[in-house]
Amino acid sequence: MSSINHKIVFLGESAVGKSSLVIRFVNGKFSPSQEPTVGAAFLTKKITIKNVNYKLQIWDTAGQERYHSLAPMYYRGAGAAFIIYDITSYDTFEKSKKWIEELKKLGDPDVRIALVGNKIDLVEERVIEKEKGQEYAEKNGLMFFETSAKTSENVDKLFIEMTQQLQSSK
Ligand code: GDP
Repeated sequence: MSSINHKIVFLGESAVGKSSLVIRFVNGKFSPSQEPTVGAAFLTKKITIKNVNYKLQIWDTAGQERYHSLAPMYYRGAGAAFIIYDITSYDTFEKSKKWIEELKKLGDPDVRIALVGNKIDLVEERVIEKEKGQEYAEKNGLMFFETSAKTSENVDKLFIEMTQQLQSSK
């Protein structure tokens, strides 16, 4: 059966939950002791939306600074990028803005970008209000989501809405 391929890249600081979101979506699992990604990991997932088959090629990159110079290799040619921050960490939100600036400058001109606040199950520890993320996303023409890889809240939605976006822009 033929399918439409889309390349999607995950960017963001270390430990914000990039691998956890990808694994939750691809395998339906969550591990509280997710091992850090070295370099980058590549996974594929087939989904069907409204009778159309898609093959998503997902690049999960390492957040550590020492791998930063490798990032362009992964976001070049990507149709979509998810920039992840951790809603319990102000620093990761600030860093996500840097990723967006870099992507707008060096990524493909028509790359679709979604800003994603992860770990919304950690209600007590939240420091970045939803409105703050939403406002930044709106100003910069980005899609916006809040997710939990732990409870799986909004994880499928993230991928489905992005895939639909990619399709509508063709
Ligand atoms: P990455 O470095 O961005 O790929 O982050 P990981 O996926 O390795 O996750 C870092 C840590 O955060 C791990 O201990 C995960 O179990 C935890 N984590 C990831 N997503 C969530 C989430 O939605 N909720 C909670 N409570 N913990 C999460």
